[in-house]
Amino acid sequence: MRDKAIKDKDFETVSVHSGTDIKDHFGALSVPIYNASTYAFENAQKGSAIHEGEIKGYFYSRINNPTQEALELALTALEEGEAAIAFSSGMAAISNCLLTLLKRDDHIIAPQSIYASTSSLFGFLEAKFGINTTFIDATESSQYQKHITNRTKVLYLESPANPTLKLTDIKVVVEIAKAFKLKTVMDNTFATPFNQHPIAMGVDAVIHSLTKYIGGHADILAGALIGSKELVEQCRWNTNKYLGGVIAPHTAWLAHRGIKTFALRMEKHNSNALKVAQFLENHPKVIKVHYPGLPSHPQYHLAKEQMKGYGGMIAFEVNGIEAGRTLVNNLNLITLAVSLGDVSSIIQHSASMTHASVPENLREKAGINDGLLRLSVGIERVDDIINDLKQALKLI
Ligand code: PLP
Repeated sequence: MRDKAIKDKDFETVSVHSGTDIKDHFGALSVPIYNASTYAFENAQKGSAIHEGEIKGYFYSRINNPTQEALELALTALEEGEAAIAFSSGMAAISNCLLTLLKRDDHIIAPQSIYASTSSLFGFLEAKFGINTTFIDATESSQYQKHITNRTKVLYLESPANPTLKLTDIKVVVEIAKAFKLKTVMDNTFATPFNQHPIAMGVDAVIHSLTKYIGGHADILAGALIGSKELVEQCRWNTNKYLGGVIAPHTAWLAHRGIKTFALRMEKHNSNALKVAQFLENHPKVIKVHYPGLPSHPQYHLAKEQMKGYGGMIAFEVNGIEAGRTLVNNLNLITLAVSLGDVSSIIQHSASMTHASVPENLREKAGINDGLLRLSVGIERVDDIINDLKQALKLI
């Protein structure tokens, strides 16, 4: 069994081999893309047992499929969870998770600085189901406890947060959640399991946009939830069966292929980002750099405690909206685009792009000022990335 061969092995080995039990796939080294929508039953009794989830098997690809399962096994191994479920996008994973854990009139506590569509989803849940969210400064973990009410069910975390790179003390929030019998849900997209293991710190559900680092090549849209078997099966059988936000077999295959080079890519993302952050910090046109691996980050010590590496994401500030626009409009190598975690470097100007829909006062509260840029540092030669920034910074 491949699972036995990789037990207790280092992350690099696990990422190359996990989910690839070749005996189950006629010796194919790459788990094939099972494009079947439906699966034949041996007989009515077995069909019924598979259909009810009583025995293992496949019957319809909205529930699962062998390519999807290979990916889910790999994600389970990377995040050190009990089980995983893959979805059609990161947002499908987040909405599925919240709709599984919450019911009408429940309450969530979440960071002010958070991925903008997640924040909008919280607004949607309030308008439709009266599930309201209190947004807090999650750099102060005591804020979670302060806002707990008898309706609170979920403490939501995103650390490092999009786009400000603010951190939350995961262990402290988990302690609060346990004391009040609440669930913790954490978006680990920015850090990735290469750098941070929330489940090992006691988090109940880890979310990923696989679209980012895990896929790694800007060619898929996918998401995942990793957690206990019980929660994952609830998400699969009680929620996604009806919502239908399942990952397509071809997408699952691409995500799984991405995982094989994931550790290698992350090593380079981490080392490039640190060097780019150091360069930006010493540049006179840059007002501030937010990167958890810099000693100037206000939560540098927390980063050292709860992260193994500091990731490929940097936020930095130039002087106002026009300077931000001029910079991004004059880059030659670094691409102006939303999204992140690709092998190539990508930049975006939050105030005029991803967070343009967030009202200015809320943007400011979350630390997203007009000159804030978010850079996803790729795996190109680091000098090429730095030189591109250098020539564009000259123009602002
Ligand atoms: N979480 C974070 C931190 C993100 O940055 C994103 C997308 O940018 C998402 C979730 C949503 O993922 P997707 O675009 O795959 O739905």
